[in-house]
Amino acid sequence: MAYDAIVVGAGCSGAVAARCLAQAGRRVLVVEKRPQIGGNVFDGPDENGVLVHWYGPHIFHTSSQRVWDYVQQFASWHPYAHRVLGRIDGRLVPIPFNLDSLEALYPAAEARAVEGKLRERFPGRRTASVLDLMHDPDAQVQKFGEFVFQKVFLHYTAKQWGTPVDQVDRSVINRVPVELGRDGRYFQDTYQAMPDGGFTPLFQRILDHPGIHLRLNCDARDLLRLESGKIYAEGAEFSGPVIYTGPVDELFGYAYGPLPYRSLDLRFQQLEQDQFQPAAVVNYPNEEDFTRITEFKQLTGQALPGRTTILREYPLAYDPLGERGNIPYYVISNPQNLDLYGKYAALAAAYPGLRLCGRLAEYRYYNMDAAILRALELTQGLLAGQQERSCQ
Ligand code: FAD
Ligand code: UDP
Repeated sequence: MAYDAIVVGAGCSGAVAARCLAQAGRRVLVVEKRPQIGGNVFDGPDENGVLVHWYGPHIFHTSSQRVWDYVQQFASWHPYAHRVLGRIDGRLVPIPFNLDSLEALYPAAEARAVEGKLRERFPGRRTASVLDLMHDPDAQVQKFGEFVFQKVFLHYTAKQWGTPVDQVDRSVINRVPVELGRDGRYFQDTYQAMPDGGFTPLFQRILDHPGIHLRLNCDARDLLRLESGKIYAEGAEFSGPVIYTGPVDELFGYAYGPLPYRSLDLRFQQLEQDQFQPAAVVNYPNEEDFTRITEFKQLTGQALPGRTTILREYPLAYDPLGERGNIPYYVISNPQNLDLYGKYAALAAAYPGLRLCGRLAEYRYYNMDAAILRALELTQGLLAGQQERSCQ
C-alpha cells in the first residue's frame, strides 16, 4: 500500500490524528464505515432546512488553550453559552440546579436559610457534588442535597442508564454539579462556542489535506487483518502505524464477549412554528420516558422563521443487531466492564503498530475537546517515537 499510516474512523479522534500525521508528511489512508465524516458529531440540514445534529446535541466547550487554538484553524466560531432548563414539579428551572432553581421551588424563607447554610459550609466554592451535599454533616444541607437528588438525578439517571442509580459511577453524576451561585450556564469551561456553519464543515477542513486519502463506506474489517502481532492491509503486511478509533471488542471479533454500551432512540420532530421551548435543551428528569428535548435552532443560532426541529432522546439498551439502539453511544463505566476492556487492551498491545484512540477504542467517555487532545498527543508521541527510531 502506498500509505505510511492508516486511521480507522473519521470522527473527532480519527480526523485529528490523520491531520496531524499528514502535516508531518505522512501519507494517510482514513477509512470510515459510515457514508459521512464527523462520527457522532455529524450534522447537516434536515428536510425542514434546520441544521440538526444527527447523533444527538453537541456543544463545544473546553478549558484547554491548546485545543481551543487548534480548532481555530479550521472554523470560525461564535460564542455560545449553553443553558438547560429542567421540568421539576411543573416548573422550568435552571440545570445545573442553582440558587435560582432553589428559589423557584422552595418557600422563600426556607430558600434563604439553605443559601445561608451553603455559604457557611462551602465558603468560596462555586459548585458541589450532589452526592457530597447528601452526605453533609449539616442536616439542612443534607435535606437540600436529597431534594435535588430526588428531583433532578434519581429518575433521570435510572432512565439514562437503565440501572438503579447506585450502580452508576459517581463520576457520571458529578458531570453535572450543583451550582452554589446563579451561573445559569450548563458548562463551566473557559471557551464555549459553536462552529459557524456546523461541525461537519469543520471536520471537512480538518480532513482536507493532500496527504489524506479518505475512503467512506469502508469497514476496517474488510481491509485489515490482525494475526500473530502483525497487521495486514488488503492482504499485505502493513508496517506503518494503524490508529484505530472504532470499537475495540469488534476489532478482536468479540473474543471475550461484547463490551456493554447504552444507546439512544433519537426521535426528531419537525414543527411549523418559530420556537418550541424557552431554552435550547429542556431536561425531563421525572415524568416522561425521554430524558431531554433539544431545539436545534437555539443551539446553532440558525435564523429560520416559521420552522423548527426538536429532538427527544429515549435511552435504551445497546443492541448491535436491533432496529433501534444499534449505535454504541455511551460506555458503561464500572469495574467489571473496565476489566473486560483491559483484556481487549492487552490483545491490542500485542500489535506494536496498533494504537487505540477515542471513545470506542479506549472505552471511555471523551468530550470532543478531550478526544481532540488525546488524538493530538497520541500522534505527536508516535511521530516523536518514529523520529527516535529513525535517528538511531
Ligand atoms: P466517534 O464519534 O464515535 O467516531 C468513531 C468513528 O469510527 C465513527 O465515524 C464510526 O463510524 C467509525 N468506525 C467505527 N468502526 C469502524 C470500522 N470498523 N471501520 C471504519 N470506521 C469505523 N462532547 C462534547 O464535547 N460536547 C457535547 O455536547 C457532547 N454531546 C454528546 C451527546 C451525545 C448523545 C453523545 C453520545 C456524546 C456527546 N459528546 C459530546 C461526546 C462526543 O460525541 C465524542 O467526544 C466524540 O464523538 C468522540 O469522537 P470519536 O472519534 O472518538 O468517536
Ligand atoms: N443527570 C441527571 N439529571 C439531569 C442531567 C444529568 O441525572 O438533569 C445525570 C445523568 O446521570 C447523566 C449525567 O448526569 O447521565 C451526565 O449528564 P450530561 O448532561 O453530562 O450527559 P450527556 O450530555 O453525556 O448525555
